[in-house]
Amino acid sequence: MAGRYQTVLLFGAPGAGKGTQGAILGKIPGYFHMSTGDMFRSLDRESDLGKTFYDYSTRGELVPDEVTIELWHTYVNAQTTLGLFKPHSDLLILDGIPRTVAQTSLIEKYIDVHGIIHLSASNTEDMVARLRNRALQEKRVDDAKEDVIRNRLAIYHRETRPVLDHYDQSIVHEINAIGSLGAVLRNILEVVVPIQETCLSKTASV
Ligand code: ADP
Repeated sequence: MAGRYQTVLLFGAPGAGKGTQGAILGKIPGYFHMSTGDMFRSLDRESDLGKTFYDYSTRGELVPDEVTIELWHTYVNAQTTLGLFKPHSDLLILDGIPRTVAQTSLIEKYIDVHGIIHLSASNTEDMVARLRNRALQEKRVDDAKEDVIRNRLAIYHRETRPVLDHYDQSIVHEINAIGSLGAVLRNILEVVVPIQETCLSKTASV
């Protein structure tokens, strides 16, 4: 399909570090980081969509698929119009989407996925501890309560993890989420740099 965004997915359970690593990657020219969590949190709390998001996220649940994809598409178009995302020279680093198998089908016409970074940890408790710390630091309602955290992890295993099976396994890269920020970043860069160079640098430099 022509005209799709050249994309890498940051994949992993809540607390795996997608947002942290994605934000660093997004600072490098040629990479554009887009987090659906940040997208939803930037909505006006009083708007209909903002209220919908707040209702779902306080329970640790996912926003319905169609609404999510529609909003994501509007958001990506807006970033392009504003010149923040340059599809011809930037590799799109998606964090938090697709998060269900249905979203994977709905988003397919917009993105050409060249790689999937699967950040994972063998010990779930490490993730839970990270989420608790983040809730304290960032005042995030979705991570504030133990039962909400557990619900988010259960939903991840039930709804999000199966997304991985939808893609060709040769593009899935397993990366250990536990380690220093620099070490995890180095492992991610080893995957994304060759993709960025192959897919975009040539177009960017002409
Ligand atoms: P985390 O980084 O902990 O995985 P996010 O910041 O990505 O969490 O997402 C926070 C909340 O935003 C989710 O719990 C969910 O309610 C909503 N959300 C984010 N992305 C999606 C998505 N692709 N589909 C549905 N809901 C989403």
